Amino acid sequence: MYEKLKELLNNSYSPYYNFPVSAIVVTKDGKEFYGVNVENANGTSICAERHAIGSAIAAGYKKGDFDKIYIMLSNGEFGTPCFACRQVLLEFFNKDDKIISVDKDGNEKEYTLNELCPFPFNLEK
Ligand SMILES: [Zn+2]
Repeated sequence: MYEKLKELLNNSYSPYYNFPVSAIVVTKDGKEFYGVNVENANGTSICAERHAIGSAIAAGYKKGDFDKIYIMLSNGEFGTPCFACRQVLLEFFNKDDKIISVDKDGNEKEYTLNELCPFPFNLEK
């Protein structure tokens, strides 16, 4: 996954902040969906995580079909999803699904969605 994430960084469109991010969502049936951050001039950019999840949704995957998501930042450090992405993760991932951050050396830090979002905004009862 490390090599794929690293190569994906090259596809990021980030001329404004110059901070490429890549993400790969893995579904329970083993499919992978790629995402990179795509910026634009007015700031309504899309993050790599939401991009990857959206690609899976477009392919027909639904809540509960996801297993994990890998993330890599171009600065080589560990990172976690922004709060907009966390809310989208809450929409489609289960509480125990993994968010895995990969650093420049291929080391991994693993979180569950519940660890990153202990008090989710949730319209369901
Ligand atoms: Zn985000």
